[in-house]
Amino acid sequence: MDLLIFWDSRAPPGIQTALSRELEILLPLISRVCESHFVVTGYIPSRKQTDATALLDSLDLFKKRSGGTDLVLLVVSEDLCRKGDEYLFGLSRQSTGSAVVSTARLENEYYGYPADDGDLIDRLAKESAHEVGHLLGLAHCRNRECIMFNPLLLEDINRQKRWFCPACQEYLQKV
Ligand SMILES: [Zn+2]
Ligand SMILES: [Zn+2]
Repeated sequence: MDLLIFWDSRAPPGIQTALSRELEILLPLISRVCESHFVVTGYIPSRKQTDATALLDSLDLFKKRSGGTDLVLLVVSEDLCRKGDEYLFGLSRQSTGSAVVSTARLENEYYGYPADDGDLIDRLAKESAHEVGHLLGLAHCRNRECIMFNPLLLEDINRQKRWFCPACQEYLQKV
């Protein structure tokens, strides 16, 4: 079982390989970057956001048709939401092995600061590893420095180390 990373054409370019490498350091998986042929659906004009569950539905359909058993992670630049959630950094569906992450609120520019690829890669690696962690069966963790801590704000992601705490790490070693 590998991790396929689908990179939407509008997602920030040039950092795919860096993300893939970071995920291989953090997770017991081989990861491969693929060009995404997914049409980003689920845009909600009144919210100017995209419904993350619609994107997971697209991924599930792809998995069903291709018959693949690999985990899939879609990286998009659209700001994500879900019924009942004002915004989401990412969303995963463990039952089907599909996850989506958004770079929108991980970029410095969103908060009025100068762009920095290093910051973006750091946050994207942690948020992606968090969602894939769910796909591998991990739940949220109470350790605020652990990748599996549930991040509600950017500062939560900034506080997380690029690290799974010993308990989460122990779980991953048995996957
Ligand atoms: Zn989570
Ligand atoms: Zn943990």
